[in-house]
Amino acid sequence: MALGEFELIDRFFRDRGATRTDVVLGIGDDGALLRPPSGADLVAVSDTLVEGVHFPAGSPAESIGHRSLAVNLSDIAAMGATPRWALLSLTLPRVEEAWLAGFARGFGALARAHGVALVGGDTTRGPMTIGVQVLGAVPAGDGLRRSGGRPGDALFVTGTPGDAAAGLALIMAADGSAAGLRSDAPADALEALRRRFLFPTPRIAEGESLRGLASACIDISDGLVGDLGKLAAASACAAVLDVDALPRSAALAAVTPEAALRSMLDGGDDYELLLAVPPAQVARVASMPGLTRIGELRDASTAARVTLRRRAADGTLSETPATGAGFDHFAG
Ligand code: ADP
Ligand code: MG
Repeated sequence: MALGEFELIDRFFRDRGATRTDVVLGIGDDGALLRPPSGADLVAVSDTLVEGVHFPAGSPAESIGHRSLAVNLSDIAAMGATPRWALLSLTLPRVEEAWLAGFARGFGALARAHGVALVGGDTTRGPMTIGVQVLGAVPAGDGLRRSGGRPGDALFVTGTPGDAAAGLALIMAADGSAAGLRSDAPADALEALRRRFLFPTPRIAEGESLRGLASACIDISDGLVGDLGKLAAASACAAVLDVDALPRSAALAAVTPEAALRSMLDGGDDYELLLAVPPAQVARVASMPGLTRIGELRDASTAARVTLRRRAADGTLSETPATGAGFDHFAG
């Protein structure tokens, strides 16, 4: 590559993340030497972003850097783990120093915010693809899984799902006039939704504090209904969502009053946590900031994996099967 691979790594990626004493040897050798904590389970995750698939071509470099790490940290959070080390496999069509500086700024700021050291990677030329691996640790046996939920467990979600999908729709609508989106909504609402897509917040602290409390956990990357279906299936349960309880951000309500519900149910890219909580732990989890109770797991004998429950004006409850399946790269 024009700048020279080594110069590029030196300039943009060495000492980008946090400095950690458990990095025995970082960037520059054939491999990194890392010292895992004793008595812990290591957690390993990997997620790749492809231009035009996971983010629109021409997205701000700082956002791509942030998101490439954030989606991995979100997986670490869903395991209840604490992140430590990251690897970055960067494939770029060309070397643009301004782009690299922006990318490294976004990646580095999030890495330092979570104490993550960038300990290695790979740099190649080709269509823009960013592969990241993160290693973290969790006290032995305490890692959260998708499979621990039981009928009767309450479902909780962090944040306000649906915002990122609306933000992406705003970004994709060049003239701002996407169907169902009010581009004349207050500018701060539009900006808030765009930022939810461009700079998602991995819920690391929430995941850590849910260890020993949640029976099952997943992060929402492909939409609430689709990812709830995965958690429920892994837990051999069905799930019911209380539609009226779903946390709706003021920005989402202002920008897309008509499509807010669809966005909350099916919108991807939120990177919120969705978890099941046994009855004995519900009061503690309900008292945590930023979590909303949205439904429950039930016996898998009901027809639909995920059911939507609503209360009508006359007080009666109605149930309908949820149709959204979430985003699947290989479907259709
Ligand atoms: P090798 O040819 O032995 O695989 P490289 O020349 O690819 O080594 O990489 C040299 C060093 O730079 C290694 O420590 C590698 O982990 C690191 N590295 C390469 N690309 C990146 C990157 N994009 N970000 C961080 N570290 C990188
Ligand atoms: Mg290499």
